Amino acid sequence: MNYTAEDEILIDRRWNELVESCRKARICKNEEDWNFIRRAFFLAKEAHKGVKRRSGEPYILHPIAVAMIVVNEIGLGVKSVVASLLHDVVEDTDYTVEDIEQTFSPKIAAMVDGLTKMAGVFNTEASEQAEYFRKVLLTLSDDVRVIIIKLADRLHNMRTLGSMPLNKQIKITSETIYLFVPLAYRLGLYAIKSELEDLCMKYRFPKEYEEISRKIEDTQHARQAFIDKFTAPIIEVLDRDNIKYEISGRIKSIYSIWQKMQRKQISFEEIYDIFAIRIVFQALPFPSEKTQCWQIYSSITDIYTPKQERLRDWISIPKSNGYEALHSTVMGPDGIWVEVQIRTQRMDDIAERGFAAHWKYKHATISKDEDELDKWLKKIRNALNGPTDSAIDFLDNFKLSLYTSEIVVFTPKGEAHKMPNGATALDFAYEIHTKIGNHAIGAKINHKIEPITAHINSGDQIEIITAETAHPKAEWLEVVTTSKAQQSIKTFLKRERQNNIEHGQKMLSEQLGRHNIIQNGRVLRKIMSSYECLNKDELYSKIGAGIISLDNLDKLLKENASKKILKFWKLFIPGGNGNATDETGTESEHAETPQTNRALDKEPEFVIAECCRPIPGDRVVGYRDPATNHIIVHKATCETLTRLAAQFGKNIVKEEIKWSQQKAESYLATVELRGIDRSGIILDITKVITVDFSINMREINIRNHDGIFDGLISLYVKNTEDLNALLDNIRKIKGIESVKRLINY
Ligand code: MN
Repeated sequence: MNYTAEDEILIDRRWNELVESCRKARICKNEEDWNFIRRAFFLAKEAHKGVKRRSGEPYILHPIAVAMIVVNEIGLGVKSVVASLLHDVVEDTDYTVEDIEQTFSPKIAAMVDGLTKMAGVFNTEASEQAEYFRKVLLTLSDDVRVIIIKLADRLHNMRTLGSMPLNKQIKITSETIYLFVPLAYRLGLYAIKSELEDLCMKYRFPKEYEEISRKIEDTQHARQAFIDKFTAPIIEVLDRDNIKYEISGRIKSIYSIWQKMQRKQISFEEIYDIFAIRIVFQALPFPSEKTQCWQIYSSITDIYTPKQERLRDWISIPKSNGYEALHSTVMGPDGIWVEVQIRTQRMDDIAERGFAAHWKYKHATISKDEDELDKWLKKIRNALNGPTDSAIDFLDNFKLSLYTSEIVVFTPKGEAHKMPNGATALDFAYEIHTKIGNHAIGAKINHKIEPITAHINSGDQIEIITAETAHPKAEWLEVVTTSKAQQSIKTFLKRERQNNIEHGQKMLSEQLGRHNIIQNGRVLRKIMSSYECLNKDELYSKIGAGIISLDNLDKLLKENASKKILKFWKLFIPGGNGNATDETGTESEHAETPQTNRALDKEPEFVIAECCRPIPGDRVVGYRDPATNHIIVHKATCETLTRLAAQFGKNIVKEEIKWSQQKAESYLATVELRGIDRSGIILDITKVITVDFSINMREINIRNHDGIFDGLISLYVKNTEDLNALLDNIRKIKGIESVKRLINY
């Protein structure tokens, strides 16, 4: 099938745009370079002949668009443009890598080969996706351009995601948030990182996206007026000092505004740092760029008072992705804090276009940043070669390692270590040695004793205190941020858990034997549901660890095990067979063994995900657990869901899942409270919950310190509406500072 006349016109137009972009970017040194690009275009056009994208456009427009991104938005050169044009040729057509090598060069062939393998990773519907990804990265870390082109490819696919069905959208956006966003961040491609995040949000949370972008527009006028007022005196001094500069007000991305609203549970109107002022100036050859930045800082702080603890000097120690700038927050007019970012043109280019821009400035600076990148690549290679429990763990760790070291701390001997921002003393202990981490009990930070969970800051000197008898606890996983610490703790806990499982299994059969009870599926399920265990391993390990005592085992088995505790939820799938499933609490013998074919005959059971515990009213997504064929219902915002969808996208349930409202059931939710500790306040809270709202509480935990109390209350609610009404009423109690639903537990 050939192109139609309209197709030809469209293709010609886009191709000319690409040629124009290459001309403007001056990437071609000679006629040979131009020929290279032209040949790639003709080969790709021929290879994709007659193929359409889902949107109905000729396929060749996609590689052209990727090449445009690569040259315009990232600033790569001829080879990358050629590889972009050819990136889907081997994957989707009859052409082979050998063909590419003969027509072009071994280098181009190697890049296209890399891109083809990358494509394979994400098209794979199997669980070896992670393992595959690892292998590909291992071969690719030699040429970062391949990863960058893959990012450009993903960016274009995200820009055109609208024509994909819902389950594909969930799979693709999850992969994007899980892997491509951190990759873009790590490579310093901030503009692309933000756009990817915004696009993910646009497709996954369209309502919230629209709302925030509308509010940004509505407040535009007032904001500009404020920015003008704020910048006027700064402009005056910059002009006085004959500095060539641009000054602008930069709005936070929609995604980052939304993240902040969620994290702090505040409204759009309550976010005060919605924009920052950015000054980009042409540095003079003398004095140093650093000195010139500080001079501007000094001029600004003569006008506005700075907030000392908000000063960020990423010039003396750049971020590991090469980011350099001076950030300061100052008190502006009307008592509003304003962030001011100061950077040179060179720093700005690098910030906007990532490390590709370094090449442009290579001769100008000692390549401190490239050393950083080299170090990172070395770290990745080590991580890839190192032993890991499973490919999935590897993927998680890889993702963690994408986030960069941003603070520098010191050992008692003065050795410097880079640690991620937000790291704790425990992270540092593991950074030094696994053994030190595993036996850590506390730390001396700047000679002062602190708990091992204490956060560390740039410049801290840290000595770890250890004890032979100490060992890792599960809670530590919440405290650490580095992949090394996480992995070491997990390894220890896994070993410990395995011991507990074996021990617990033995204890249970002994106890059952003593009571002459035969151990079968029904008995086990009853015990599991009584102790709220999701599976046998959890039950055994809890018995083994002494968390569950088997003292009243016989009594418990005589009673009818409460069906309320191990819950199977009734939900309704539109486009299913039209009936709400009616499997609530039904006991069937064969559900015991994960027999997929038999389970498939039945309607799937719905299980509430333990990680995020959605309640009716929450937006939810179904994930089919391949082992049991159960559909696990997660909150749409759940991080675990994102991870699963990025790794096993095919298990996302196609249909949208809605809550069935036919039967009044209660769901567990946890609420976090903080307030001033006055006498009777707890009574007031429990009265609102149990009397005014007739809601059952499962657990209440209150901690007092220095006249402040922090509380966690677990309770059973019907839906989000119910919960929100309750929270509104608790908020009205005198002394309550903040009340919110716990998002992750
Ligand atoms: Mn592609």
